[in-house]
Amino acid sequence: MIVATTVAIGGMGLVCGVALAMAARFLAVHEDPRVEELTEILPGANCGGCGFAGCGEYAKAIIVDGAEVTLCAPGGAEILDNIAAFMGVEAEAGEKHVAIVLCGGDNAKAPRRFDYNGVADCNAAHAVDGGDKKCNHGCLGYGSCARACPVEAIEITGTGIAVVHPELCIGCRKCVKTCPRFIIEMVPESQATHVFCSSKDKGPIVKKACQVGCIGCRLCVKFGGESFEMDGFLARRNYETPIEDEDTVIDKCPGDCIVRQEKSAAG
Ligand code: SF4
Ligand code: SF4
Repeated sequence: MIVATTVAIGGMGLVCGVALAMAARFLAVHEDPRVEELTEILPGANCGGCGFAGCGEYAKAIIVDGAEVTLCAPGGAEILDNIAAFMGVEAEAGEKHVAIVLCGGDNAKAPRRFDYNGVADCNAAHAVDGGDKKCNHGCLGYGSCARACPVEAIEITGTGIAVVHPELCIGCRKCVKTCPRFIIEMVPESQATHVFCSSKDKGPIVKKACQVGCIGCRLCVKFGGESFEMDGFLARRNYETPIEDEDTVIDKCPGDCIVRQEKSAAG
C-alpha cells in the first residue's frame, strides 16, 4: 500500500514537473533584447519623471509601444541624442525645465490660522481644514516636496517655506505631483524672474493673508506687456515673452511678489 501511494505521488509529481517545464518553454514571454540595451543608455535615476515606473519601464515603452523618445528630462540633451541614435530617429531637445515653488509667503509674511500639531506632512496638514496657513494657496512648509525630490534640490527654509535650488533640479516633476497646494510649476531654466504667488483670491483677501501676495492690480501687465498675463486676480509670467525692463516691473509691483531668483550657492 505504502509503495503504491509513493509511486502514485511520485508519478503525479513527474507529470506536474513536465507540464510546468513545457508551460515555461511555450508560454515564456521573450523580451526584446533592445529593452535592456536601451535601459543601459537611460540615466538610471528611476525617478519616474518620464511618466513610467522607472528607466526600464520607459525603455520598454519606447521599444514596445513606440513612446516618445523625448520624455527623459533628467537625461538632458546628451541622453536624448543617445536614445534617438539608438532608435534611429531624429529628436530635438527643448530647453530644460526646472521646478519652482510659486509662493513667497514664509512664516514672517504669511501667518498661520491655528497651531497644527499633526504629522509633519503637507498632505496631512492640508487635509485639516485646508491647512493651517491663513492663505489657502500658500506653501505649508512641511516638506512633502523636499522628501519626494530624488536629488535634494528643495530646501525648507528656516522661515517655513519650500525653495527649489534650480541648479540641482533634474526636472523629474516628482515635487509637482506631491504638493497638495498645486503651487510647484516647471519653468524654463533660463528664466529667473517669477510671480511668487499662487493665490487667485481678490486683493483685499490676499492682503489679509500675506504681505507678499499678488493683489491683481495688473501693473505688471502694464509695465511688462505680454511677458505677464492675468489668471483672474493672479498675475502669471508668460515665459515665451522675455521681460524687457525687469527692474521696473519688479519695482512697480505693490505686492512685492515679482522676484528675480538669485543663483544659490547650492549648485
Ligand atoms: S511646496 Fe507644497 S509640498 Fe512643498 S512644502 Fe510647500 S506646500 Fe508642502
Ligand atoms: S525639485 Fe526635485 S522633485 Fe522637483 S522636479 Fe526638480 S529634481 Fe524633481
